[in-house]
Amino acid sequence: MKIIAIDIGATNLRVALFNNTKKVDEVKERTPKDSPESLSAKIIECIESLCKKGDFDRIGIGSIGPLNLEEGTIEMAPNLGLRNVPLRNPLVNKFKKRVYIANDAMAGVWAEKVLGKGKESNDIVYLTISTGIGVGVIVDGNLLVGRRGNAHEMGHAVLDYTSNDICGCGGIGHWETFAGGRNIKKVALEKATVWNEERTNAYDLAVKGKLEPEKLYQLAREGDKFATYLVDQINRVHAAGIASIVAAYDPEKIFIGGSIYLYNEDLIRASLIKYARLYSGFGVPEIEKASFGDDQVLYGAASIAINPPRQIERFASKL
Ligand SMILES: [Zn+2]
Repeated sequence: MKIIAIDIGATNLRVALFNNTKKVDEVKERTPKDSPESLSAKIIECIESLCKKGDFDRIGIGSIGPLNLEEGTIEMAPNLGLRNVPLRNPLVNKFKKRVYIANDAMAGVWAEKVLGKGKESNDIVYLTISTGIGVGVIVDGNLLVGRRGNAHEMGHAVLDYTSNDICGCGGIGHWETFAGGRNIKKVALEKATVWNEERTNAYDLAVKGKLEPEKLYQLAREGDKFATYLVDQINRVHAAGIASIVAAYDPEKIFIGGSIYLYNEDLIRASLIKYARLYSGFGVPEIEKASFGDDQVLYGAASIAINPPRQIERFASKL
């Protein structure tokens, strides 16, 4: 079976051709932000460049959200500044193939179940620690999808109800507010204003509002005291989020991916487990690195097309 797998991110759009479970070709573009229709137009262009004669069987999409799967649209994409972005209809009209759409983290967990290290488990979670925080969940072998495709938006779980920090979603005190990659500069600045110890390189960057995630972890690895402190604080936030995941879904394994985790597992994993044991009254499940690195959502998009979960199948185009 030939599958077109699509990963729609806030920054990049990736479109790949899979031959069964193997990725054979890929194109990558900046995600267009000009108009709601510009995204599907760009996707069509990418598919045509990969597969000139439309010679493929199905399309799978893992996308930023929130989604409206009934309509086959991205309902709102705060990071693109767009609303009601049509995905399913333009692709069905153009190619006359079935189109399966899932949120990116849902696709990520389905990749583990269908193609990855989660094949033997019925209760698994995929957590992405990246620009934002995303969670995909399988309970009793069932992918949790929700009414319109936005179940388990755990990155927006409230971790501090006394906080005044407003999240990108409009809520207050969310996991993503304190530990999403895009908020790290802001969190670093806040922590720097109450830091009374040695003024380190990381501290100097933080007070200027310029401590990017990559630099933060690099300096922590070099032993910078402020960076080490901040990484520890952020690990506590992730651990609190994981304790909430455990309380909500009782998983056997949690697979973690996303660029921040993938490149900094050495500074995150052990500390995260230590704190999660403290926060969770229900123990901490096995925590493993996700199977597909930077390609997790692409493999997820392929997985939902290869072996569609019934919760996604019901929203797929009928041909
Ligand atoms: Zn939020």
